[in-house]
Amino acid sequence: MGTKGKEIVGKDAKELVELFNKALADEWNAYYQYWVGALVVRGPMRPDVQKELSEHASEELKHAGMLAERIIQLGGTPLLNPKEFEAKGNCKYDAPTDPSVTKILDQNIKGEQCAIETYNKLLLKIKTTSDMISFNTIRKIMEDEVKHEEDLEMLKEDISMI
Ligand code: FE
Ligand code: FE
Ligand code: MG
Repeated sequence: MGTKGKEIVGKDAKELVELFNKALADEWNAYYQYWVGALVVRGPMRPDVQKELSEHASEELKHAGMLAERIIQLGGTPLLNPKEFEAKGNCKYDAPTDPSVTKILDQNIKGEQCAIETYNKLLLKIKTTSDMISFNTIRKIMEDEVKHEEDLEMLKEDISMI
C-alpha cells in the first residue's frame, strides 16, 4: 500500500496481519480437507458430492489467495511454512479417515461452521479498526462460507431422502 493507505490502517496493521495469517492457515487446511475428501469419498450421489467438494476446495484456495494478498498489502508476510498450518489455525483439521459420504459431509459442515464463527468474530474485530478494505475482504469470504454450509446441508438432506 502507498502512504495514505498505510496511514489510514495505521497501528492496526500488525494485529490484522497476525489474525489473517491464522485465517490463512484455516483456509489451507480447509482446502486440503475438501480436495482429498473429494478423492476418497464413497457412497450415494458420489459424483454430485465430489463436484461440490471440489468446487469448495477451489474456493478455499481462492480465500487463501485473498488473505495472502491483503497480508502483503498490510506490510506482512504470509505463512511461509505449511508446518504452521496445524498450530496457527482457528479450526482443527479433520482428516477424512472414514470415506462415507455422510461422514465426510458432516466433517465439512463442522468445518464451515467453525469458519463462519471465526470470520464473524474477525469482522466484529475489524469493525473496531479503520481498515474497511480488510473488512470488505473478510465479508466476501464469509459470504462464501455461509453458502458452503448451506450447500453441504442441502446435499445431506437430499441424500437422506434416497
Ligand atoms: Fe474459505
Ligand atoms: Fe468454506
Ligand atoms: Mg457450493
